[in-house]
Amino acid sequence: MDLVFFGIQGSGKGTQAKRLAQEFGYDIFEAGGELRKIAATDTPLAEKVKRFMHAGNLVPHEIIMQVVKEAILKRSPSTKILFDGIPRDADQMRDFDQILKDAKRDVRCIEFTLSKEEATKRILGRAKAEGRADDANLEVIQRRMDTFLTKTRPVIEEYRKQGKLTEIDADRGVEEIYGELKTVITK
Ligand code: AMP
Repeated sequence: MDLVFFGIQGSGKGTQAKRLAQEFGYDIFEAGGELRKIAATDTPLAEKVKRFMHAGNLVPHEIIMQVVKEAILKRSPSTKILFDGIPRDADQMRDFDQILKDAKRDVRCIEFTLSKEEATKRILGRAKAEGRADDANLEVIQRRMDTFLTKTRPVIEEYRKQGKLTEIDADRGVEEIYGELKTVITK
């Protein structure tokens, strides 16, 4: 069974993903990370991707769906994938579910819940530590969080309706969150 991690920027889902992947052998597909790799290349596509990322907007549908589709198809059916940062809106969810269905893969979803206020505090700290340009600008952070609340939240609610979602309170220390995560995925 594959996993999909949801959480507002700053919720710590990336940290949890890395630990879980290491201990339980998941392959991580991190949408933002994959796009940052593309943005670092010397291609016209990179320029386009950068424009959207720097503004804090979702990159166009076809671009991200192509990237995730390739990533899914190149992995063997026995590899468990942990998706971080996709799907982020209803259109992505529709295509993502179809790709998974065609590949005979199944997902369960985890949402790391955190208030917008706490998330903002954390993300500004991360910008200093990691030097990420799109984390350093309050306006861009605001736009990414708004995108999460308006576009990604309905996706989470849909998975909840389908009985695929578990929520984990992310307003705690890394260890405590990880302990609960392990309990959730092993039960
Ligand atoms: P993240 O590292 O998840 O915060 O993502 C950084 C940026 O990458 C986002 O602000 C978007 O510009 C872009 N991005 C990440 N995931 C997606 C996605 N699923 N669809 C479109 N754009 C994305």
